Amino acid sequence: MTDSVPHHPQHFAIAIDGPAASGKSTIARELAKRLGLIMVNSGAMYRAVTWQALKSGVDPHDPHAVIAMLDRLEIACGDDGVTSTIAINGTDPGDELRSPQVNAHVSAIAAIPEVRARLVALQRDYLNRTDVVMEGRDIGSVVFPDTPYKIYVDAAEHVRAARRVDMGEVDSVAKRDAADSRRATAPLMVAEGATVLDNSDHTVESALEATLAILKRQGLPV
Ligand code: C5P
Repeated sequence: MTDSVPHHPQHFAIAIDGPAASGKSTIARELAKRLGLIMVNSGAMYRAVTWQALKSGVDPHDPHAVIAMLDRLEIACGDDGVTSTIAINGTDPGDELRSPQVNAHVSAIAAIPEVRARLVALQRDYLNRTDVVMEGRDIGSVVFPDTPYKIYVDAAEHVRAARRVDMGEVDSVAKRDAADSRRATAPLMVAEGATVLDNSDHTVESALEATLAILKRQGLPV
């Protein structure tokens, strides 16, 4: 991404990145609750565009078709006072964002630079309104590279696959991670300045405490 990063003096972001099913959403949610911040799920935005493509019969692997659809799409990102909300052409896709079809195609949609540029702008726009805990793949590296608060949540692959099964989801975590890590634009990576948290063996409570300790070391007054 070549666009410049806007400066937001009034609001700040805590960036939580990591592979699929590493537990980063749970950590981000608990952290936001503890600190009274809005939790923004950036993956839901990529999922919502994927959901719309599948609904419209647009091939997720045809970037030209996806971009043409994107140009006609109204994407409304907001929050309910606790977490982010999303509506596509006025409709909240709800639980359909986590369907096996969306899981299978979201990485292809997320690899399209035009999709990323549109969604990154919406992600950055949150800081014009509020402080956030934002979770995703490129939050510390691309969306908010200047934030001092960056955590990369990781977990062993068998632990991550088991988490998806526990959630009752059909999701090829390893395949999605490989695609997300190998793409040319904004690949999944440990951002410069990020601290890695191994979440393989943590409980929710101990992961939250470890996260708060890292953020304190990064200078957050907690
Ligand atoms: O976080 P979640 O698993 O819901 O993300 C779904 C997909 O969205 C990821 O596999 C990835 O392809 C894409 N994504 C992304 N950048 C983000 C967040 C998600 O590319 N910041």
